[in-house]
Amino acid sequence: MNITYAALLEQVKSYQPGKYHTTRNYTNGAVTSWSPYISRGFLSPVLVMEQLKTKHNKQEWIGFMQQMAWREYFQRVWQQKGDLILQDLKSSQTNIILEQLPLPIQNANTGIHAIDNAIHQLYDTGYLHNHLRMYLSMLHSNIFKAAWLPGANWMYAHLLDHDPAANFLSWQWVAGTFSSKKYIANQDNINKYTNTKQVGTFLDTEYEYLQTSIIDDSNTIQSKHLVNWPDPLDQKFEIDVATILKNIEKKNQSKIFDINLALPNTPYCIYNSFNLDPLWHTDEEVNRILLLEPNHFEQFPVTEKVLQFIVDLAITNIPGIQIFIGNFEDLYQHIETISMSDKNITSEKNNAIIYFKEHPTTLHYKGIQEIRDWLFPEVDGYFPSFFGYWKKCERYLK
Ligand SMILES: Cc1cc2nc3c(=O)[nH]c(=O)nc-3n(C[C@H](O)[C@H](O)[C@H](O)COP(=O)(O)OP(=O)(O)OC[C@H]3O[C@@H](n4cnc5c(N)ncnc54)[C@H](O)[C@@H]3O)c2cc1C
Repeated sequence: MNITYAALLEQVKSYQPGKYHTTRNYTNGAVTSWSPYISRGFLSPVLVMEQLKTKHNKQEWIGFMQQMAWREYFQRVWQQKGDLILQDLKSSQTNIILEQLPLPIQNANTGIHAIDNAIHQLYDTGYLHNHLRMYLSMLHSNIFKAAWLPGANWMYAHLLDHDPAANFLSWQWVAGTFSSKKYIANQDNINKYTNTKQVGTFLDTEYEYLQTSIIDDSNTIQSKHLVNWPDPLDQKFEIDVATILKNIEKKNQSKIFDINLALPNTPYCIYNSFNLDPLWHTDEEVNRILLLEPNHFEQFPVTEKVLQFIVDLAITNIPGIQIFIGNFEDLYQHIETISMSDKNITSEKNNAIIYFKEHPTTLHYKGIQEIRDWLFPEVDGYFPSFFGYWKKCERYLK
């Protein structure tokens, strides 16, 4: 999924949004796969919409715009609620039987072909169609009746487009803790949207029986599953972040920040996994640092493959970028040390200039905060539902 910015822009320019709205729920619909770049702050949603608007009429781009607004809506909820997005937001998840990740999901042997293939696709590519994410999370939380957070953490860790707001709030939406009811789908629905024809599965049933198709009303696993699946059925999913960061450091040794190579008396642009904007301060001479903070990844772990994708995207598109593996405070101390020695030479009194972008993950940074691109900068604050939010956005649609 690594790509040059120029190649991605070509994709944006040639994209035809007209069929998006009617086909987006089908796995072979006119979706873009741009989320790994949008989530990484590499592709601006504003630039995307400007491009689409120059060539297409409103009827063609409005469906696409609405989905882009879903992303922005989740960002606004995160901005307002902070870490509360990691807890049941509106109501408690009911009827939890499993506390950890169901093993048939982790091992891709649920028996539902479209879902097992999706899990392999997630492991292999780090990307999944929206409907497949919904099927996976509804199976996890509403049919295996597992607490939603372990499943959300597992999916997040493997997604190139991992984003706490979009991911955790979507999982909550499916589990009914950020929506009015739990989302479920049966085999007919899965067959229709994934172009499969599977019959006779435990999801091949009427909607009223779906929620007891694995774990029945007395909270026991239906006997027909016992031969296929392990006991216990769930297991803790863990990621060793410290080892992953060490491996990333080893693999990318030539790009690791070297204090001696910092340009003296020169500002710093701090990039991170949510800000890889290749157009940021491009015309200026600055020290460009990709900050990978252990504290952040301990809270939101990702796999080594996902972290290497971030590093590759940065190295390919941001000339001169160096990687700093450590928390912001450690980097800040280095920058201060460098700026003190600069001052000895120049006798200037000012501290080093540090630029970063506003984001829930940069609240502890120091320096000059710049705003990120918003499609609807006017519509901020907390909206309990997307449709209330969208109604307000519509006032600003041109
Ligand atoms: C359980 C679950 C977990 C999810 N986790 C994430 C995540 O970690 N990161 C993430 O970016 N998205 C997440 N999504 C939202 C959505 O699935 C992806 O953004 C979308 O599938 C990305 O594929 P695409 O770029 O081909 O989307 P397209 O359909 O081409 O849409 C274009 C862009 O609009 C935005 N978008 C579209 N649909 C949604 C949506 N339902 N919610 C939010 N934004 C949307 C994305 O930025 C996307 O790139 C999740 C959805 C579910 C149901």
